[in-house]
Parts: sequence; C-alpha cells; structure tokens
Amino acid sequence: MESLDELLAKAEAAHGHMCAGQILGVRMSLLGLNRLGISDPRGADRKRLVVYVEIDRCATDAIGMVTGCRLGKRTLKFRDWGKMAATFVDLESGRGVRVVALENSRELAQQLYPHIESKSAQQMAAYRALTDDQLFREQDVRVSVDPSELPGFKGERFLCPVCGEGVNFGRWIEADGRRLCLSCAQPETRYWTPE
Ligand SMILES: [Zn+2]
Ligand SMILES: [Zn+2]
Repeated sequence: MESLDELLAKAEAAHGHMCAGQILGVRMSLLGLNRLGISDPRGADRKRLVVYVEIDRCATDAIGMVTGCRLGKRTLKFRDWGKMAATFVDLESGRGVRVVALENSRELAQQLYPHIESKSAQQMAAYRALTDDQLFREQDVRVSVDPSELPGFKGERFLCPVCGEGVNFGRWIEADGRRLCLSCAQPETRYWTPE
C-alpha cells in the first residue's frame, strides 16, 4: 500500500484541494483495508472490495480514490445517513469493518494545536497526528451484498409503460397488476417536477 503522503497527494489531485476531509477519508480507508488484509485495492484486489459510504462530503472522494470503488463501477454504495462513516466489505471472506469518525476529534485538534489559528489547518494537522483509536471507532460487521448489487450483474432491462424510459437492475414496482418504474409508481418520491 502507498504511504499516507502519497495517497494524500493523489486524493488532493482528484478532489481539487487539500482539506481535513481528504486526510480523514484516506485514513479511514487505510484502516478499513488494513483490517481486511487488502493491500492492493486498485490492482490485484480490485474485485474483492465494496465500500458503503454514509455521507456525501469531501472524505467520500478520498475513500473512492484510495479504494478504487466508484459509483459507476457499482462498488461504491451510498447510504445518505449524514454520518462520517464507511463500511469496507471483503467480498471474498464476507468480512466487513465499519469505521466511524469520532465526534471529539475537533476538540482534540484544538487541544493539540492551540497555536494554529485556522480551524481547518488545526484539523488537518491533528488528523495526520492522532492515532486510529483517537480518530475512529471500528466495528466488525457482516454485510450481505446481493449478487444483483455487484459489478457485472446482467439483469433484465425493462421499459416503463407509462414514461417509456428504460430501467436496469430490477428497479421497478408491481402496481395495479403492472410493472412501473419507481418514478411513475411513486411520483411523490420524485426529486423533480416538470416545468
Ligand atoms: Zn474538500
Ligand atoms: Zn415510468
């Protein structure tokens, strides 16, 4: 595995700037991968890993970069829970580890580096220096990933009879004896309204 500094340089380039989230995300990933014994997530081990992220913030980009897991590869799963947490799943062993960033890390940053004025510089310094135990809580978990959620799954494609749009991966609902896409079956869940 590359060093923290090497990974941070790559994370910065991919994300567009260096920030506390990059450091947190890279360190969360290193911890998770280390626990699973995965050392080459973007190379030899790339088919072993799926990651669930629970927040869409800066750290999420770093997690995607280090692990190589991406939405477009179906290996990065987003659960919109607003928590600075991620679960790393080894598909080979079925083992998972959920890593949560601890709430008190900001206070620790302040205690450690009171002389640094900028909060973000303070956090960046601390997130490099603090131990995994100081930064994170980790938990062994089991995650059953359905085969239909994995890369390479070839499911039936279906055309919604109402909107005429194509739908993959079984994302439809049986309503009134017919299959509808989620948007037509549950219009109240639409994130858009027509103009
Ligand atoms: Zn950022
Ligand atoms: Zn439809």
